[in-house]
Amino acid sequence: MLPYRHIKIFLINSCLALCLTILLYTHSVYAVTAMKANIATSENTTIFYLRLNQKPDGVKKFILNNPDRIVLDIQHLEWHINDKIPSHGVIKRIRFGKNNDNGRIVFDVTQKITTTNIDISPHSSVSGSYLLKLTLYHSKNAFDLNTILKNQTQKNLSQATNTKSEHAATSTKENFYSKHQFKSIKRRSPNDIIITIDAGHGGNDPGATSLSGFKEKNIVLDFSKELANSINRQNGMQAILTRDNDFFIPLDERPMIASHYKSDVFISIHADALKDKNFSGSTVYTLSDTASDEIAAQIAESENQSDIIAGVNLTNQNPEVTDILIDFMRRETDIASYELAENLVQKLQKSTSMVASPHRKAGFRVLKSPNIPSVLIELGYLTSIDDERRLTNPEKRRTMINNMIFAIKNWHHQRQLSGH
Ligand SMILES: [Zn+2]
Repeated sequence: MLPYRHIKIFLINSCLALCLTILLYTHSVYAVTAMKANIATSENTTIFYLRLNQKPDGVKKFILNNPDRIVLDIQHLEWHINDKIPSHGVIKRIRFGKNNDNGRIVFDVTQKITTTNIDISPHSSVSGSYLLKLTLYHSKNAFDLNTILKNQTQKNLSQATNTKSEHAATSTKENFYSKHQFKSIKRRSPNDIIITIDAGHGGNDPGATSLSGFKEKNIVLDFSKELANSINRQNGMQAILTRDNDFFIPLDERPMIASHYKSDVFISIHADALKDKNFSGSTVYTLSDTASDEIAAQIAESENQSDIIAGVNLTNQNPEVTDILIDFMRRETDIASYELAENLVQKLQKSTSMVASPHRKAGFRVLKSPNIPSVLIELGYLTSIDDERRLTNPEKRRTMINNMIFAIKNWHHQRQLSGH
């Protein structure tokens, strides 16, 4: 048996350890301190930076009107900033107060703000600290991607018209975006899912050619039209075709057409050629900076050549859209595209021959729409006899189309359930 003295020491030690744990825990919970704040502005944004000693557990953000203000509630935040933060950009005044356990920062703003973004990441130069970055997008430059993209296209077109290049003239003449200025396609119902279907290649750019002489541009056009007709027969869905005939559309304009119609989905349809004639089956591609494998890289490279083959004057191409506003929208879109691709693979593989690992990734230019979930489907490879047979068989095409529609519906339903 232990002597009484030992039990006593043991109890005191345990008690001390417990108190120390509670103390440390409370300390870490309450130790979110705001140490430094400053504001930076650009033409379209005002950014508020706050240096914190640790990553907060919870941050909530509200936008309030009359008067216009943004509120940040940060769990257990203590304000250790003595200097007054001068007004800058759209931020007129910053106030701090306690709201129960939370620290509340209120930003009085000079104009209505509808879009904001918060990012908290480790501080790049003060080790152990975190930097909270709150971006306020100025409403004057409305958060309207369609306007941004449209302005860029129009700028592009006027540049193309001004140049004497024969190629540029051809591309302008064949330009869907200008020539077909959205014909008479009307949205049937504001609640419909809009699916833009992009038949790859066209006009001067035939794409791949099969062993028996079928051209990719025709095979994918027929397939796209059939898919669009089937979609239009569904309740709650409407299809838009980027091209309904044999003409070429520059790569960058294809997602813009989807954007013009405020599409929910963009699907580019292809049937390419590969060096390996035994490679066959369908593949679903999503956008990625790095290709998932060698074949994906090869396909993306050949697809991205389309403009050169069709004779588009590349000096008039859009600059990369690198606006901060588009960057953060991209993340959300990438997730949605990924989920769509997974759904398509799951449904298609029930009845269609697919390649091994059928969801692949690469840097396709046509998939760069920042706000519309986009996938590129290689229906098959025209270098394979099996795929050529499959794609020219109406019954097999019908099965693929039904499964694709099923996948889109399923994906949309899942997104609705998760609050999108
Ligand atoms: Zn292609």
